[in-house]
Amino acid sequence: MLTTYRARLFFYTVLLITFLVTTLAYTYIYSRDAILEQARYNLANTARLLSGNIEMEENGLLHHAEVIRDDPRIQEYMYMVTKIGAEEEALRRLFKRDFGWLPVERFVFLDLNGRPRLNTKNADLANTVQEHMRQSQNNIFYTQGSRGLELVAWASISYQGILLGTIAITHLLDNHWLRQHQNYSSGHLFIEKYNVVQLSSLPESEGKTFLPRGGSIVMNDTIYQVRAIPLAGENLSTPHLWHGISEQEVLKQLKRHSQIILALAILGSLATLTMGLIIARDFNRPLNQLMEITRAVTRGALPMMGRAVETNEIDTLSNRFSEMLQSLREKQEEIDRAHRRLEESAITDSLTGLHNRRYLKQIFPQLFAQTQRETHCLSGLMLDLDYFKRINDQYGHLVGDQCLAHMGEVLKESCRASDYIFRMGGEEFLILSLSDTTQGGKILAEKIRDTLAKNPVTYKQALISMTTSIGIGFTENQLDAEAALTTLLFHADKALYAAKNNGRNQVIIYNTALQDNSYLQDATS
Ligand code: GH3
Ligand code: MG
Ligand code: MG
Repeated sequence: MLTTYRARLFFYTVLLITFLVTTLAYTYIYSRDAILEQARYNLANTARLLSGNIEMEENGLLHHAEVIRDDPRIQEYMYMVTKIGAEEEALRRLFKRDFGWLPVERFVFLDLNGRPRLNTKNADLANTVQEHMRQSQNNIFYTQGSRGLELVAWASISYQGILLGTIAITHLLDNHWLRQHQNYSSGHLFIEKYNVVQLSSLPESEGKTFLPRGGSIVMNDTIYQVRAIPLAGENLSTPHLWHGISEQEVLKQLKRHSQIILALAILGSLATLTMGLIIARDFNRPLNQLMEITRAVTRGALPMMGRAVETNEIDTLSNRFSEMLQSLREKQEEIDRAHRRLEESAITDSLTGLHNRRYLKQIFPQLFAQTQRETHCLSGLMLDLDYFKRINDQYGHLVGDQCLAHMGEVLKESCRASDYIFRMGGEEFLILSLSDTTQGGKILAEKIRDTLAKNPVTYKQALISMTTSIGIGFTENQLDAEAALTTLLFHADKALYAAKNNGRNQVIIYNTALQDNSYLQDATS
């Protein structure tokens, strides 16, 4: 597995994306806990704040009751009404004038028998207060009356040490009250009695069962985290106040978080993937190029390769590879040159620089095909220096060699570029010449003979004259190049032989009269 770098790169990219997504998922889960924890903390704080406010409100109402209780004129008037039997009207006017401004919902005076005075409309309130006074010493309590939940504060009124009765004032906990208190929190307030919601800032919850479990309650398919706000004089039969916040509300924040996290995860993954693909492409392109080139090298080619600006390791590798190819190309060219030299020397006579017999065999088929194609006449001029042995004998072998080289030069000068000149061995030469007529060969032969005779070799003070005998043969209309060469050489040799016999330094063209089959074998060997 993972043997290729591409597979590894892919694997690492996937690993990176997994790591990224896991990290973000962990962050999401952790942030969910953190947000819920923060919400719980906020809930506790808000509950504390609400408790404080409500306590202040309770104490405020009690304080008002005590202010009324401590008022000497109220005490005096109360005494007159309850003990002397004076008209209540004066007390009512006094109360209205001096305490009418108080922010109270209802008020009632009770005499010692518990009868409501001054405000007989509030007989129910009088009864509730009397009932409460029998059971508890607490001066503040809540009651669920016909108008709704009310906070009641009461105080006993005395005049000069004589107990006269009680003053009770109330504060209504209505929707307005709920709204006021709700301002402190982002949640809702629930007033519950006997596990049923009596009043709430969430109207649809009113009349519904309210039974919190583990600090939370499900209301209208919404989970609320709830905290009880203690009320004065609370017991099982009195109403309870709860503050709650919707978990969904809290989780809205989390939803925002999760959207950001999701966006980050997608962006991060895409960025990682893009990066992986870019790296893979950057990595692949030069590697593929290198692989392509190595394949070409294996096939025997040495292709040209551009140099890259070295910005990374692969560029460096490519450049080293390019240098290696360049060096291989140079070596190859050197080898080719040496090979060509070797080939050249294999077909060249070292003394004269002319072609040798081996090259004759090699080139003849091509030349013959050309003759056939272009219906030219191919003449073969066979040359042999006359009495050459004597030169060797008289001047030595080295001078003999110089004379052979001189002969080579004479031949080169006399022939056309299209003619082929061979040294067949010793002081024998062959010229293959293409011409339009059979006369072409004869003219060339005469030219050579004449030039050689007129250009002796200078050695020290002596002039070494040389002559040559030349026999000319032609190819016949044969299908086979090999047979054609045999015939050509045979005929030329016959003619040369005739020239020698005829006194040397002359040219003889082959004719059938010269034919002698016994010569055939010698000429081609
Ligand atoms: P002719 O051909 O006219 O009959 O007389 P010739 O003296 O030239 O006789 P022949 O062709 O038989 O002799 C060839 C001589 O050429 C023999 C040998 O000494 C000499 N020779 C052959 N090859 C070389 C060579 O490479 N260098 C030198 N210096 N002499 C050579
Ligand atoms: Mg000879
Ligand atoms: Mg000779």
